Amino acid sequence: MERRRFLKVSAAMGCAASVVGCNSNSKSKTTGEPWAKIGESTEIKNVGEPLTDLGPSTEVAEEGSWTACLVNCGSNCPVKVITQNGKITRIDAHTNDGKDDYDTGDVPIRACLRGRSLRQRTYAADRLKKPLKRVGDRGHGQWEEISWDQAFNEIATKAKTLSDKYGCRSIYNNYGSGAYYGFHSKSCITLAMKMGLGGYLGSYGSYSWAQYGAAAPATFPRNGSTSGTPLSQLKHSDFFMGFGFNPFEMRMSGSGQQYDMLKAIEKAGKNLKHIINVDPRYTETGLGKETQWVAVKPGSDAALAEAMAYEMINSGWVDRNSKAWIDANCLGYDKTSLENKKAALIAAKKQDEADLIDVGENYHDYVMGVGKFTEKHDAAWAAPICGVSVSEIKQLAQDLMDAQAPYIVVGGGINRHSCGEQQCRALFMLPILTGKIGNPGVSNGLMPANSGLGGGGFANSASNNAHASISCFQWPEAIERGKDFTPETDGLRSVKPGEKLGTNIKAIFNMNGNTLLNQHADVNGTRKILEDTTKCELIVVVDCWMTASAKMADYILPDTSWLETDDIAGDSYASGELGYMTFMKAAIEPMYDCRNMWDIGLGLAKAWGKEQDYTKGKTRQEWLEQAYQGVHDRYNGKGLTLPATYAEAQKVGVVKKIAVTSAPKMAELANNTTPKADGTFPIYIYSMDYANKAKTWTPWKNSTAACDQITAIPKYTPAYTETKTEINEYPFQVVEYHTKGRTHSSYHNVAWLREVVQDAAWVNPVDAQALGFNDTQMITMTSPQGAIEVMIKITDRVMPGVVGIAQGAWYLGTGATDNGLGPIGSVDKGGCSNTLTKYHPTPVAKGNPQHTIRVKLS
Ligand code: SF4
Repeated sequence: MERRRFLKVSAAMGCAASVVGCNSNSKSKTTGEPWAKIGESTEIKNVGEPLTDLGPSTEVAEEGSWTACLVNCGSNCPVKVITQNGKITRIDAHTNDGKDDYDTGDVPIRACLRGRSLRQRTYAADRLKKPLKRVGDRGHGQWEEISWDQAFNEIATKAKTLSDKYGCRSIYNNYGSGAYYGFHSKSCITLAMKMGLGGYLGSYGSYSWAQYGAAAPATFPRNGSTSGTPLSQLKHSDFFMGFGFNPFEMRMSGSGQQYDMLKAIEKAGKNLKHIINVDPRYTETGLGKETQWVAVKPGSDAALAEAMAYEMINSGWVDRNSKAWIDANCLGYDKTSLENKKAALIAAKKQDEADLIDVGENYHDYVMGVGKFTEKHDAAWAAPICGVSVSEIKQLAQDLMDAQAPYIVVGGGINRHSCGEQQCRALFMLPILTGKIGNPGVSNGLMPANSGLGGGGFANSASNNAHASISCFQWPEAIERGKDFTPETDGLRSVKPGEKLGTNIKAIFNMNGNTLLNQHADVNGTRKILEDTTKCELIVVVDCWMTASAKMADYILPDTSWLETDDIAGDSYASGELGYMTFMKAAIEPMYDCRNMWDIGLGLAKAWGKEQDYTKGKTRQEWLEQAYQGVHDRYNGKGLTLPATYAEAQKVGVVKKIAVTSAPKMAELANNTTPKADGTFPIYIYSMDYANKAKTWTPWKNSTAACDQITAIPKYTPAYTETKTEINEYPFQVVEYHTKGRTHSSYHNVAWLREVVQDAAWVNPVDAQALGFNDTQMITMTSPQGAIEVMIKITDRVMPGVVGIAQGAWYLGTGATDNGLGPIGSVDKGGCSNTLTKYHPTPVAKGNPQHTIRVKLS
C-alpha cells in the first residue's frame, strides 16, 4: 500500500477508534446497542458507498471544490470537498482558517463536527436512489422504484385533480428547513405548484421561534426576533444573563455566535463580573465560562423574571433610576401610562382603540399585587414555581440593579412552551426595567443580530392564488377540520376577518424537511391522521435520505445533496457578525438517479404543461448565472469584491466581511427608543395587538386554562402539564436540547456522530438513585402521548426532577422494518422526543409547545 493511502486508512481507523472510545455506553452492554440499531434498521440494502473505500489505490491528483454545509443550524459554513477520481476522499474544514483576527474580521469560518462528516452523510447507506412509489399501506415500508416520468405524471395528475375539486388551498406546502440552498431550494417546486395548480396553502412561523416571533413584535414593534444587540457588545458589559441561550451547542461554526461570545468575554476581561446561565441543564455555554448557573424548572422563567421585577420595583430602584425612561418609551408600565394613552385615543376619536385599554391591567399593579391584583409576584411566590431559592432570586435582582451595562438575552428554548409568548414577553421586561436599552453593551433581550448576507435564488415568479396561510404547526388539524379555520379561531392569515379556509388539506408537498413526522409533535397521533388515506390523499416527499417523514410518503423523489450541486449560499440567519458567501461548485456528479430541486420543479412544471413559464427559454445554468449577477449587483463594492461571472466566483469559493458592526446597530436601537410623534411607542409592555386578540379570538378548543389565554401584559402562566393529576402520574419534566451531534434531525444518519455525541437521557443522581437506575442501562420515558427507549446518562448537569434529552433522533417504532415505522403506539426505539410531545397550539402564534412535556421513567 502506498504510504499516502496507508496514512489515510490509518487516520480513518484511528478516528473511528477514538470516537468509539469517547463513548463508554456505546458498545457491549447487555442492555442494548442503540448505535448499532440505528444504522441497521434504517439501512436500505445494497445502496450507499462503503465508508472504508477511500478511493483509488493508485495515486491520482486531488481536486478541491468549495461547497457549504446548508443545514438549519443558523450558519452555512463553507467547506472544501477533496475528491479523487470522482469520489470524495475527505472534507477540508481548515482551508478557510483566516488569521483569527477578530477586529478585522479575518477569522476562521470553521465547520463543526457535523460539516466535517459530510462525506459520511453524502455516502450514507440510506441515500435515496430512485423515485419511489408506495405500494402497501401508508407508513408500512413497501415501495416500488418508478421512473421520473411516471412520478411526475402521477403526482401532477393527482394534485391537479385534488386542486380542481377542493381548490388550491387544499394543497399544502409543508414547512421544511433541512437545506438552506440559495438557488436549488424548495422554492423551485413551489413555483411549479403555483404555475400548475394556481397556488397552495402556505405556512407562517417556524418550529424554532413561533412564539418568539409573536412576542418580539408585540413588545418591540420595530424589531424582529433577532434584532438584539450583537454579541460583540458584551465587551462593554459588566453583566450577562442568558435564558435558555446556548450558542456553544447550537451555533458552533468557527465564526459563529459561540466565537463572537467567547471573543467578547475575553475582551471584557474582569469587567464582565457576572456571566449567568439560566437553564435546567448545565450547558456548554456555561461550562467554565459562567460565574453562575441558575437551574430553573422548564417553563417557569417568567416567574423568575417577575420576582426579580418585584425586587426592582419594591426596593424603589425603578422609581429612582429608570421610571422616567420607562414613561418616555413604554406603554403600560403603570396605571398613569395607560390612562394617558386612553385619553389621547379618545381625544383622537379612536374609541374602538381606547376600549382596548383596561387601565387596571398594568404591569406595576400586576407584579406588586395591588389594584385589581391580589397576589404579590415576589421571590417567595416564585421560588416553588421556578425552583430557584428566595435568596438567589433576590441576589440576581440586586446584581442586575448594580450593573452598569447589563446584557440580557432570551434564547429560543424559552419560547417552545405552551406559555412561550408569555415567557418571552415576561423576560423582555428585565432589560426594559433597567432603562438602559440603547447604551453600549446593553441588550434589549432579543436574540443577537447577525450578518445576514443572502444567497442567490431562482428569480422566476408566479402568484399564489390561495391567499391563505396557517401556522406551520397546525397542518394535522387542518387535515381534519381545516375548512373551519378562521383568523379568530385558528390564526388563519391572509384572509378577511371571519373568513373560513373552506377546505381541509388533501395533499402535502414536503421538501427537505422532517416535520411531516419526526420534528412535529405527537408522532403516534400524527401517524394516525396521516395513515388514513381518505383524509390527506397525496403526500409527496423530496429528500436525500429515508427519514422518518419520508416513510409517510406516497411518492419519494430523490434530491441531490449539496455536494453534488452548484449554488450560491449566504451565511444564514444566526451565523454571527462575520458575513460570508460561498459560491458552491459540485464536488461530484449527481449520485444514482437523483435530481436537483430545479430539475424536479421543471419535471412537475412540464407535467402540468407549464415548461415555458418555468424556464422562460433559459437553461438552469443561465438562471444560475442570472442569480449570481443579482448577488453581484447587491454586494459588489459594498465591502465585498466579487468576480464578474459565476464561474470565476466558483474559483474564489468564499468571500467574507464583518457585516454587523456594533456602532450602527446600537445607534439604530437608540433611535428606536425615541417615542414617535404619532403617539406610538418603541416598547409595548401593554400590547394593543394582544388586547385586541384577547377580545376577538377564541381560545383553542374553548379552553379555559391560563396557558391558552391571551393577555395584554406579560404574565407567568403555568403550562397545561402543571396540574396535580399530571404531576402525580408523570413526575418528571423534560428539557429538550440541541445536540452537537445533529442539527435538529439532520445528520442523525451519520453513525460517527452518534458515537461522538451520546443520545442519552440525562438524569440527576438523586433521581437515579431513588429509581434504582445504574449508568449502563436503557430506560423508558413515557408521556401521555407515547414512550421512547433511550440510554441513561446519570449526571448532575441536569437539575433534579428534570430529564434532558437531545431532540432530533429519528423515530423508530418497535420492530420497524428497513423502510417502515413499526406499529403505532409501540415503544419508540429511535428515541424521538416528539413521540412524547403533544399537539396543542399556543394562543397567539399557534406554535409548537415542544418543551412542555411530563414523563414517568421506568
Ligand atoms: S452544522 Fe452548522 S456549524 Fe456545523 S458545519 Fe454545518 S453550518 Fe457549520
